[in-house]
Amino acid sequence: MNRNELIACHDCDALLQKPRNCGKGSARCPRCGAVLHHPSAVQLERITALTLAALFTFLIAQAFPIVELDLNGVTSQTTLIGALVALWNEGMELVAIAVFCSTFLFPLIELTALVYVLVPIRAGVVPVGFNYVLRAIQFVRPWGMIEVLMLGILVTIIKMTSLARVIPEAALFAFGALTLMLAVVVMFDPRALWDIADTILARQARGARTRHPAAPASSGTHAR
Ligand SMILES: [Zn+2]
Repeated sequence: MNRNELIACHDCDALLQKPRNCGKGSARCPRCGAVLHHPSAVQLERITALTLAALFTFLIAQAFPIVELDLNGVTSQTTLIGALVALWNEGMELVAIAVFCSTFLFPLIELTALVYVLVPIRAGVVPVGFNYVLRAIQFVRPWGMIEVLMLGILVTIIKMTSLARVIPEAALFAFGALTLMLAVVVMFDPRALWDIADTILARQARGARTRHPAAPASSGTHAR
């Protein structure tokens, strides 16, 4: 049996034959019942569009002012990052770091990594470092929806300290929209991308073989 036709169950390590042409159905492990293959593999177009939209919404959410600071009678509007700097200066460094990571760093890593992987895959090319980027996505994913909690904490602190006032304008609405978009993006299973990349690589290997029928089938060619 060809090694490339095997798939390991992520939950119980059972070695199984890769499901072929699942179409709209999902495949489950016969031993433990874990889902091996999601029907979301066919939703590549939709998830690419949504990820790009989420990235733009993220930029809007970060670029427009979200709070109004009142310092010694002088009011000034500032973005989320500006609010975090104010928190830091007020001696709440830990909260500032936690909110920064969950509302800025992790969503930015996940969205840019997804765009980096999805756009070339959609065009039929496997990008450089594909495996590492997908692993990074799976690493930051558990921290996905925590930004809702962190924004809540930030608003609570702002209200309690009367340091600033939350302004319900573009940035706040962008954050709301971004939360909904991220909820849908997070539902997409990155494992589906491994399968699509496998298909692309197999097709490229077949194409190379038909173009150079005299060349050996193995890729182990030596430079001379
Ligand atoms: Zn299993």
